[in-house]
Amino acid sequence: MAKDAHSPLYDTYARAPLSFERGEGVWLVTGEGRRYMDFAAGIAVNSLGHAHPHLVAALTEQAGKLWHLSNLYEIPGQRRLAERLTAASFADRAFFTNSGAEALECAIKTARRYHYVDGTPERYRILTFEGAFHGRTLATIAAGGQAKYLEGFGPKAPGFDQLPFGDHEALKQAAAEPDVAAILIEPIQGEGGVRSVPPQCLQGLRDLCDEHGILLIYDEVQTGIGRTGRFYAYEHSGAAPDILASAKGIGGGFPMGVCLATEAAARGMTPGTHGSTYGGNPLAMAVGNAVLDVVLDEGFMIHVQDMALLMKQSLASLADRYPDVVGEIRGQGLLIGLKAKVPNVQLVAALRDEGLLAAPAGDNVVRLLPPLIVTADEIHEAMGRIEAAVVGLSLAGQRKSA
Ligand SMILES: *Cc1c(COP(=O)(O)O)cnc(C)c1O
Repeated sequence: MAKDAHSPLYDTYARAPLSFERGEGVWLVTGEGRRYMDFAAGIAVNSLGHAHPHLVAALTEQAGKLWHLSNLYEIPGQRRLAERLTAASFADRAFFTNSGAEALECAIKTARRYHYVDGTPERYRILTFEGAFHGRTLATIAAGGQAKYLEGFGPKAPGFDQLPFGDHEALKQAAAEPDVAAILIEPIQGEGGVRSVPPQCLQGLRDLCDEHGILLIYDEVQTGIGRTGRFYAYEHSGAAPDILASAKGIGGGFPMGVCLATEAAARGMTPGTHGSTYGGNPLAMAVGNAVLDVVLDEGFMIHVQDMALLMKQSLASLADRYPDVVGEIRGQGLLIGLKAKVPNVQLVAALRDEGLLAAPAGDNVVRLLPPLIVTADEIHEAMGRIEAAVVGLSLAGQRKSA
């Protein structure tokens, strides 16, 4: 992956030397016809796999009618999708965006405006957690607080304080400060290494927020839309937020996101306070509604839970047999983290050689994020490939084959 001096593209990505021509379900196919199992799914984006017939039909039908319309006019698909998202969650209101970071920007603005119209504009600080990832805009890199993303981009946007992950005392102290507007947290840190927040801690956060009049914001950009075996991951804990950012899986590959809020939390977002040219355009809404047709179908969450259990059991057995390569298995549903005992990028490369795509994450973790439509047969096939890659890296495996 040497720097390609002739590329007209920004050199911001460390790309694998692979390019794909088409996809079908969990499979990606190169121009030469080599097939890969896509267990990265565009980083939890291709929730229904590639070229899902229902999504293709929804997109092409809408493409023949109307692509784009300004938010100066009514967009019926927007209202329908908002009704379905709010009916399926804690929320009463929705604002559509084009990405996860924009959904977070809307969430942060919503929280600050809430206190502003409440007569306490000094409450603008947002408490976040070390290891978090909230996007790459100037505000969301400040929210994430990771030095590697902030370096060289001028002063960090003010008003974001990172707290150590799991330090209850530090959190209690910080939340008692009179300038705090909200606490922002991923129920499971995705990029940070598939680190789950225990359900009782989310409940604790909810109580703390209520005690101090602070809003609770969940970043469910990666965990939402069925990824963890529930529509939103917070349902595992029962602790609902006031505001939630959702994206990635919501469009199944079409760029879109949404900020959801309760009626009370959204009350500061009055006409003129926020906007987006593309957010919620008819093409995006057609696809988003089609994704929900599948994900909200009775039985779909059971399918995700069943497939997750199958994968987790198979991976646990692999960890038992090759402890020099595979450590702890983490995560929930089909957001699975495998703590690697070899460099995670080395394991990702070995998996790729076996024809399986996975995504690295922080804390030396390899993420397995298959499309939610993955079948038991496909998981068996994937486990065979994962085992082959692990054996190749394991001393025990090398001894066995010697
Ligand atoms: C991917 C991600 C984001 C950023 O989403 P973009 O669409 O890349 O802007 C924010 N938060 C979390 C938890 C994510 O996984």
